[in-house]
Amino acid sequence: QLSPLALSKAKDVESKWKGVSMFGGTTKNYVDGQFVDSKTSQWLDVNDPSTQALLSKVPLTTASEFDAAVANAEAAFPAWRETSLLTRQQVMFKLQALLREHTDDIANAITLEQGKTFADAKGDVLRGLQVVEVACGITSTMLEERIEVAKDMDTYARREPLGVVASINPFNFPAMIPLWTIPMATVTGNTLVLKPSERVPGASMIIAELCERAGLPKGVLNVVNGAVDTVNAICDDPRIKAISFVGSDRAGAHIFHRGTANGKRVQANLGAKNHCILMPDANKNFALNSLAGAAFGAAGQRCMALSVVVAVGEAQQWIPELVERAKDLKVSGGFEEGADLGPLISPQARERVIAMTGSVEKEGGKILLDGRNYKSTEYPNGNFVGPSVVEAGPGMTAYDQEIFGPTLVILKANTLDEAVEYINKNKYGNGAAIFTTNGATARKFEKTVNAGQLGVNVPVPVPLPMFAWSGNKGSVLGDIGFYGKSALNFYTSYKTSTSMWRSADAEMSEKASVNMPTMS
Ligand code: NAD
Repeated sequence: QLSPLALSKAKDVESKWKGVSMFGGTTKNYVDGQFVDSKTSQWLDVNDPSTQALLSKVPLTTASEFDAAVANAEAAFPAWRETSLLTRQQVMFKLQALLREHTDDIANAITLEQGKTFADAKGDVLRGLQVVEVACGITSTMLEERIEVAKDMDTYARREPLGVVASINPFNFPAMIPLWTIPMATVTGNTLVLKPSERVPGASMIIAELCERAGLPKGVLNVVNGAVDTVNAICDDPRIKAISFVGSDRAGAHIFHRGTANGKRVQANLGAKNHCILMPDANKNFALNSLAGAAFGAAGQRCMALSVVVAVGEAQQWIPELVERAKDLKVSGGFEEGADLGPLISPQARERVIAMTGSVEKEGGKILLDGRNYKSTEYPNGNFVGPSVVEAGPGMTAYDQEIFGPTLVILKANTLDEAVEYINKNKYGNGAAIFTTNGATARKFEKTVNAGQLGVNVPVPVPLPMFAWSGNKGSVLGDIGFYGKSALNFYTSYKTSTSMWRSADAEMSEKASVNMPTMS
């Protein structure tokens, strides 16, 4: 049974998004501008993580339905690429306004399916909306290069869309991550086949409806639901030219290798283990509040969640206070007033977090705060765990692997150099942060740390989308990041054109030259 609060939100979304939303029924696909029922016999349950109540069923789209979606995307491409940049930009302006207008509805769908708190779900939508806002600037960002390279001769470079591209999405940001790809892929003139996470399809369906209302022509965006078979079909379909993937290491490696073996561009953002160095000269209150928020917000299910604090020197004495702040956080259903952390996505995720937290004891570490046995009286069947703080280090499961839950690992270091070494030796390179009041320390950190997205007194340093996503090491496969200027590089191919316009033949000799033209 849904909680009364969640039930009223579900009914609200259902009534406002008739034929689009899915609560109490089945999720549709969105193909050729229509929300269509799948004819598949295979469906997966979408459950409320706070109660396990069944919210909807999501189809494992059949091969012929998938084929129709790609065919529609392919058919829509010639007209869409010829649609003027100004018209494509107008669609983005409208989409921006519509996403703002309907943020709460999308956030309701996110909290229902994914479990995160409603305030956090609104942040999920807004971070995606910011990508649309950057896409609105396409007439400036797509400005091309041109130069007179020789007498009467010009070279200019133009960016051309690739054709049909695909996007495969994870569960943890049901709005933001689809919105990493929808605006940038389409504003650059591509058509898109998007596969939401099978655990959280609702936000993508509402966003598809908003794209249609914004004026995106039918076939330009197609949403197909499914799991492994749909992903493999995306990797293998020769009509699809590029794949954007965000998710786990295992699925990402599979998709990267299969997609690139089939000649596609693939960008893949994977797992993470984000460290934060806590220096003894940091502003203590500010730092400890920031660390607790970044470690336990969204129940640790952010790829930029803070998973390791490296306490340097006397800052180690602040750990008990950090534990106190973690204890103060309220764990509850995402719609509950004052909830800081919602549930984990599934009972399996909960079991995994409990096991990884418990592994610390067997492997020689220490549990400073144990959230494993957290039981919610209001939500006894939910996938809840409370915040945990553990001491662990390299060679131990809780440190070496991504936990993706509210378990914060504490490491101790004597010096900044030692702390930086931990980060640089870690296999992941998504984000890293430092809390300090010393500019020289901060600068040294920025120069020497090998991770893509750095924060100085900023615990979750996700760059705004005028910059590109910049994770590195084991956190990415492929070399072109999401959004920012990288999105232009990923979604377009670069074509140069060199032309000579000379008014007369006069300067030409009688004999043809066979030497390599140097244009000089
Ligand atoms: P996931 O890999 O299980 O699922 C992601 C997508 O891949 C889904 O659409 C799913 O259907 C598909 N998929 C899953 N297993 C597959 C398989 N064996 N073969 C083919 N396709 C498969 O990831 P998730 O659990 O939804 O998301 C959490 C993970 O995503 C975490 O590891 C997190 O760090 C990562 N993540 C990374 C970033 C980033 O930018 N680096 C952002 C968000 C999430």
